[in-house]
Order: sequence, then C-alpha cells, then structure tokens
Amino acid sequence: MSKIVVVEDEPAIAELIAINLKHAGHEVTLAGTAEQARFEIDGELPDLVVLDWMLPGQSGLALARQWRSDVRTRELPIIMLTARGEEGDKIAGLDAGADDYLAKPFSTNELMARIRAVLRRKAPQALDEAVEVAGLKLDPVTHRVSHGGVELRLGPTEFRLLHFMMAHPERVHSRSQLLDKVWGDHVFIEERTVDVHVKRLREALAPAQCAWMIDTVRGAGYRLTRNAGSLLT
Ligand code: CA
Repeated sequence: MSKIVVVEDEPAIAELIAINLKHAGHEVTLAGTAEQARFEIDGELPDLVVLDWMLPGQSGLALARQWRSDVRTRELPIIMLTARGEEGDKIAGLDAGADDYLAKPFSTNELMARIRAVLRRKAPQALDEAVEVAGLKLDPVTHRVSHGGVELRLGPTEFRLLHFMMAHPERVHSRSQLLDKVWGDHVFIEERTVDVHVKRLREALAPAQCAWMIDTVRGAGYRLTRNAGSLLT
C-alpha cells in the first residue's frame, strides 16, 4: 500500500481523486493549499504527490520547484494537474520537476494508470506487485518470500528491507537511505540498527542459499545483487 498526498483546492476534484485512490488500495491525505501540503510532507514523506498547479497562495508549480531543491524531497514522485492543456504549461510543469503531467479534465482511469507508471519507475516498493530477482520471489500481498520452492521466514522489518532492496536491485543504498526508506524518515535510529537487520535478513535467506544476494559495499552501504560474480570484482 502506498501513501499519496493529493494537493487540490477544489473539494469535488480532490474527493473524486481520493475515492479512486482509496479504491485502488492507496492511503490518501488531502491538502487544499501549498502550506498544508508542506506541513503534511514535513511530517512524513509520502510515496507520491498529486499536485494541482493552480492553488490559492503559492502555486503548485512553485511548490514542486521547492521540493526539488530540497535534498529530502528531491526524489519525491510528483504528478502535476492543471486546468490548462497548452504545451508550454506542460513543459513548465516538467521543468519544475514533475514526473508526469495531466491536463483537466482527465479521466480518473488515466490518472490511476499514470500513478502506477510513476510509482513503478520511482518507488516500485510502494506497489503491491510481486517482485522476483534471480529466483528470489517476494509477494507483498501474501507477505511470502520464497526461492526455488523453499519458503523463507522473515520478520516484518527484514521483509520491508528485502522488498525495498528487491525493488531497486543492483543499486547501492547507504545506511541512512535505508533508514529513510524502510524505517521512515524522521525516525531517530542509529545507523548500526541497519546492520543488525541486514544480518537477520541474511540469516533468513540462508535456508535457500541466497544470503549472498545481500552484498556489503565497503564504505557505501548495501545492495541486492542478482549476480554472484559481482562479489568478486
Ligand atoms: Ca486548483
């Protein structure tokens, strides 16, 4: 399940989007102004923001620019909505850092499809889709992990950690990035907590002989690899 913030000042449109998102299994927070949106996002980073361009006070465009210039929100997936369909607006929206852009009136089916596409690209762990890397399978719906027919037992934190790493295979994640993405940002946990859970994750993967997939990158962090050979280089 993913957390989505909808920033839209027209209550009828905001409600329509919220109903469709909830129906698709997302958790939705509504914000009617840029100020409210900032407040929500300062509190907790969502998986995606649907951002209306025309808002009372600060515009959605200015807000998107602001988020893109801040390290904490630089990668936040943003889909921009606008009443204006001109190409120049679209370019301005994308230049401000939106990942996608939709002109009103839009079909809710199209919005849902674009949300899935942006999440798949930028935050695949936020989708309830099963993932498989080198024979290791994880299903977020049934909470099952298996490899070659061997069911593996993982604790909840190890499950989230593996899900995130499988959604971004071969990429190196620092301990602080893993804390942000797996434990949630704004949590005050020591970085060595990550090491403890990585150790537990390897132990959980050991019965299927795939503990090696969790690779320690000295001085950088951890990655999930599908290629045992990469450990030798
Ligand atoms: Ca508006």
